[in-house]
Amino acid sequence: MTIQFPFDNLYARMPAGFFARVEPTPTQSPRLVQLNRALAIELGLDPDALDTPEGAEILAGKRIPEVAEPLAMAYAGHQFGHFVPQLGDGRAILLGEVVDRAGERRDIQLKGSGPTPYSRNGDGRAALGPVLREYLVSEAMHALGIPTTRALAAATTGEQVYRETALPGAVLTRVASSHIRVGTFQFFAARGRVDALRQLADHAIARHYPDAAQAASPYRALLEGVAARQGRLVAQWLLVGFIHGVMNTDNMSVAGETIDYGPCAFMDAYDPRTVFSSIDQFGRYAYANQPGIAQWNLARLAECLLPLLDPNEEAAVAQAQEALGAFADAFNEGYLGGLRRKLGLLREQPDDIDLAQALFSAMAAARADFTLTFRRLADAALGPQHEAGLRGLFGSEQAALDEWLAVWRDRLAAEDAPAETRRAAMLRASPAVIPRNHRVEAALSAAIERDDYAPFEEMARVLADPYAESADASPLAQPPAEDRSDYRTFC
Ligand code: AMP
Ligand code: MG
Ligand code: MG
Repeated sequence: MTIQFPFDNLYARMPAGFFARVEPTPTQSPRLVQLNRALAIELGLDPDALDTPEGAEILAGKRIPEVAEPLAMAYAGHQFGHFVPQLGDGRAILLGEVVDRAGERRDIQLKGSGPTPYSRNGDGRAALGPVLREYLVSEAMHALGIPTTRALAAATTGEQVYRETALPGAVLTRVASSHIRVGTFQFFAARGRVDALRQLADHAIARHYPDAAQAASPYRALLEGVAARQGRLVAQWLLVGFIHGVMNTDNMSVAGETIDYGPCAFMDAYDPRTVFSSIDQFGRYAYANQPGIAQWNLARLAECLLPLLDPNEEAAVAQAQEALGAFADAFNEGYLGGLRRKLGLLREQPDDIDLAQALFSAMAAARADFTLTFRRLADAALGPQHEAGLRGLFGSEQAALDEWLAVWRDRLAAEDAPAETRRAAMLRASPAVIPRNHRVEAALSAAIERDDYAPFEEMARVLADPYAESADASPLAQPPAEDRSDYRTFC
């Protein structure tokens, strides 16, 4: 049998210098350990055909599908604020693009499939732990309703990769609207290649912002579009306690999807300074810094686009600044709107943000669990006799909670909505389950150490429906027994 991939590649048609043609390095003994059948169908692929030895060979990078034009994309990027002019897919290979059943163009990429001309000192490989972690967390993000790259498959290679110790090697098949990053623009801007920048911008407009092509200034509209999508995206991250962990400009998608699940993690106890990444010593990418960092990254994108905006530099800068304003507009709307839904507020009031801030202060003082606070607050919307769950999260901060609840109940009383309707709406705005770090670790350990994928699959199943009331009863909804703010993630 030969597996058909209905490739329809545009990026492979871009000029020389945009990418390097490179094939995956064949691996020893591929084994498919996870396959996302629903996503395969969405992409117009046959899940039964992928779930075969031939499918495993393709998904582990041992065999190249017919008519594939595999390539590694070139990009640059600011890493922790320092510009690196040459990065690129160092361990990933774009197998090709397909137009999915909804008519959307999607990249199918192998991550961990061997070295490329952009590998620098890296081995081009990925270990099973991080591959499974990305699979679980990116699919959880999707189920939460947050734009993200997806995971089609995880396959082991039968080879070892060497980090601090020898680890089982694996390949993740990642699916994205595209892999064009802020850093892709920076790559050409740093080389003064204005024609290439224009081609890249035109490609990004056609692919992600078709309306911008009709605008008076398409490149300005592109910048505005990226800024708006990033504003909405970062607002959604904050509303579920997500910390990306490595918001370098090469890890910011122009399509507005969450990309690069390396050191990301969700917080348990609320603390706006939370950082999990072992390499983020100064907390540059801490939870509460994310909107500011996204704006900083967008300013780098704006700098790249200046030569396309206006031949007069001052005029170009003015246009860019106006376009970047779309970030704050979209962020504020998304964040405030989300907070209102989480608090069960139906009507907008100017002091809504203060009400939310007061709750956050009490949560921080109590180190209350972020996810459970909003879930139990939904129960409390039924009336003061339903506050026990919430109170249990606030330890010695009961007085602060009481003070806040009084103000909140006044607000609710001013809106006439049936309590049960309000609670249901609140539950739709705040998930019961997130991929909690201690649970992710346990699921990964079972898979890696005992080849037992049952905990992983149970977790994936519960995370696929995170707002369901049935999820509240799952042990996966429970925070760790001990405060795990010392938890560390690695790239
Ligand atoms: P990241 O920190 O994941 O955004 O990666 C930064 C850069 O390092 C990108 O160009 C990656 O392709 C590259 N890279 C990360 N890990 C490896 C690896 N094991 N081998 C080769 N390149 C890598
Ligand atoms: Mg990256
Ligand atoms: Mg990475």
